[in-house]
Amino acid sequence: MRGRISFRASLSGKFLLSYLLIVLVGVATLLVVTFGLAPTLFQAQLVGILQTHPSALTTSDASQRILGIFLGTLFSALALAAIVATVTSLAISFFVAWRITVPLRHMTHVSQRISAGHYAERVVVPPVHTTDELGQLASSINALAATLEQTERRRLEVIGNVAHELRTPISTLEGYLEGLLDGIIEPTPHTLAMLHTEAGRLRRLVNDLQEVSRAEARQIPLFPQPIAPQQIVQNALEPLEEQFAEKGIELQVHLPEEVPPVMADLARAVQILTNLLVNAQRYTPAPGRVEVTVSVEKALVAFRIADTGCGLTPDQLTHIFERFYRVDKSRSRAFGGSGIGLTIAQSLAQAMGGDIQVTSAGLGQGSCFTLTLPQIHM
Ligand code: ADP
Repeated sequence: MRGRISFRASLSGKFLLSYLLIVLVGVATLLVVTFGLAPTLFQAQLVGILQTHPSALTTSDASQRILGIFLGTLFSALALAAIVATVTSLAISFFVAWRITVPLRHMTHVSQRISAGHYAERVVVPPVHTTDELGQLASSINALAATLEQTERRRLEVIGNVAHELRTPISTLEGYLEGLLDGIIEPTPHTLAMLHTEAGRLRRLVNDLQEVSRAEARQIPLFPQPIAPQQIVQNALEPLEEQFAEKGIELQVHLPEEVPPVMADLARAVQILTNLLVNAQRYTPAPGRVEVTVSVEKALVAFRIADTGCGLTPDQLTHIFERFYRVDKSRSRAFGGSGIGLTIAQSLAQAMGGDIQVTSAGLGQGSCFTLTLPQIHM
């Protein structure tokens, strides 16, 4: 958004200047025409009278006659000057009005096109100049169009992604069911278990989609309360310890005793940390290590989860919180991931006044996810 406009460059300044110009031109025309015409007219009338009545100026009513000639001349000169001044002022007024309405008409046309769904439409220079309020209005219309264009692009992307994500489990289910109907596949417990797995994948995907749309629209009800960071870590770690041990991943926890409580919704904070821990376990091959460290950072408490796993490239780091983003699509889908978990986790963290950041030294170098939550000063 642009800053303040100086009075001279502003629309009100321009209006004032144009009115002043119209008045000045009107007055100047009036004076020029009056003074240009009046002496000639006066002289012509005087000469005319002297020619018809040579003694006219020597009679007793001479001053009356001269006054009459003067007033008549003045009236004629003023009337003519007034007509010329009016025409000149009108011409200037039309020009000024045209200069102001051309950009307005252009902006009306552009906003009508945008409201009709042509989001790539933009207000252009000229006819709109960028120095006054009309320029600011043009920038706002362009910013609005850019936001709408981006929203529309994301909407289409989401529809495309959802369709793509649904296609795989639906095709698998369809294939198995057709095989069963044609008698090619036996309804063995193994086949039924496969069908059950695919149906579960679909259900998880639908649940994730619902959750991500609610999280991004900030519609998930949160009940923030003072919580000890130790409790969040404990609630998230306990159900996962066995999984870590089974996979052969060492789990290290660094929890200082003196950490201030955080203001957060306990269930949601545990959900976020669980997501980060499950990912760390998933993307770290055995033998590996995952370290959970809690520390205080200014007004926040940071929960750092560093793994010795597959790591991320700088490009992957910039996309990792986007919906449906997965580094290795086939591998991640095999794990049951749809690439929505981190999007939900980040939206939830931000809704609680915190955030999630990620760093990695590169592929094969492990990654470090940091959840921050606002601390309460005791
Ligand atoms: P998913 O459910 O597919 O795991 P997430 O949103 O949780 O979705 O993660 C998105 C992607 O980020 C994953 O598919 C994976 O490629 C990458 N990722 C997440 N956590 C890690 C990690 N600790 N190490 C390496 N890559 C990770």
